[in-house]
Amino acid sequence: MSDHVEVLDSHEATVGQLTVRRALPRRQLRTIGAWCFADHMGPAEVTETSGLDVGPHPHTGLKTVTWLVDGAVLHRDSLGSEQVIRPGQLNLMTAGHGVAHAEEATDSYRGTLQGVQLWVAQPEATRHGPAGFTHHAELPHVEIGAAELTVLAGTFAGATSPAQFDTELVGVDAVVGAGRATWELNPAFEYAVIALEGQVRIGDAVAHPGQIATLGTGRQEIDLEALETSRVLLLGGVPFPETLVMWWNFVARDRAEISAAVAAWRDRGERFGEVDSRLDRIPAPLPPWPSGSSA
Ligand code: MN
Repeated sequence: MSDHVEVLDSHEATVGQLTVRRALPRRQLRTIGAWCFADHMGPAEVTETSGLDVGPHPHTGLKTVTWLVDGAVLHRDSLGSEQVIRPGQLNLMTAGHGVAHAEEATDSYRGTLQGVQLWVAQPEATRHGPAGFTHHAELPHVEIGAAELTVLAGTFAGATSPAQFDTELVGVDAVVGAGRATWELNPAFEYAVIALEGQVRIGDAVAHPGQIATLGTGRQEIDLEALETSRVLLLGGVPFPETLVMWWNFVARDRAEISAAVAAWRDRGERFGEVDSRLDRIPAPLPPWPSGSSA
C-alpha cells in the first residue's frame, strides 16, 4: 500500500441539458471496485425550459445508482417503472442483458438540481440476467463526530444499505463539518473520494468539486479534514477482476457485444423494450471501430 493520495480532475460532459463532471471513468482510473462511472450533475437551475430531460436510452451489464442532493427527477423504464426520486432516496436500476430508461424533469419542480449518477459493473454471474428496478425511500444514517453519513451501498460504520449489489462494495454520502474526521476502512477495498461541495484534505492532497481523490487498497482508515463544511461521496470495493469494455451506455467485455447492443437498440427489438416517455428516444452513435471487429 501507499499513503499517497492522487487527485484527478473530472472532465465536463453534457447529459440532457445539464453539464456534469465525470469523475469515472478516467484514462488513469477505470474503476473503483465495481464502480465504473460517476457523474456529478449540477448544481443547476431547473426552469420551464431547462432540466435534466434525458430521453429513452438503453443500458447493458450495469446497475445505475441515482442519488440527489437537491431537486427531483422522474425515472421511467421499459419495465414499466415510474418513480420520482428526491433527496435522501436511492434509485437502483439493474440492466443485466438489457433495459431502457428516461430521466425527466418533473412537471412541478423548479429550483436547484444536484446529484450523482453512478454505474456499477455487473460481474459475469449476473450481467446476462434480468433487468430490475428498486426505489429505496429510506437509507441508513450514521453520525460520526461532525459528519453525517448516509450509506447508499454496502455496509459502513455498522450500517447497511438495503440496496442489493452483486460484488462487495460501498458508497457513502457524507456531509462533513469543518475539522478532522477519521473513518474505518476495509483494507481489502480500494477507495476514492469525490468532492461534491466545499473542500477536503485527504492525506497529502486537497480535493475540490470536480475532482476525485484515489486511495488505493490496504488502508485501515481514512483521515479527512474538511476545510469548510463539505460534502463528499466515498466509493469503495474489492478491485473488479474482469476487464470491461465500456462504450456509450453499455458495459460489456468486447466490441462484438457492444455492436450487438447497438444493433438491438437501433432495431427496437424486445431486448430493450419501450419507455413511455414524452421525450425522444436517443439514437445510438456509431461505434468508432469497423463493423465486424471483435477485438
Ligand atoms: Mn441512463
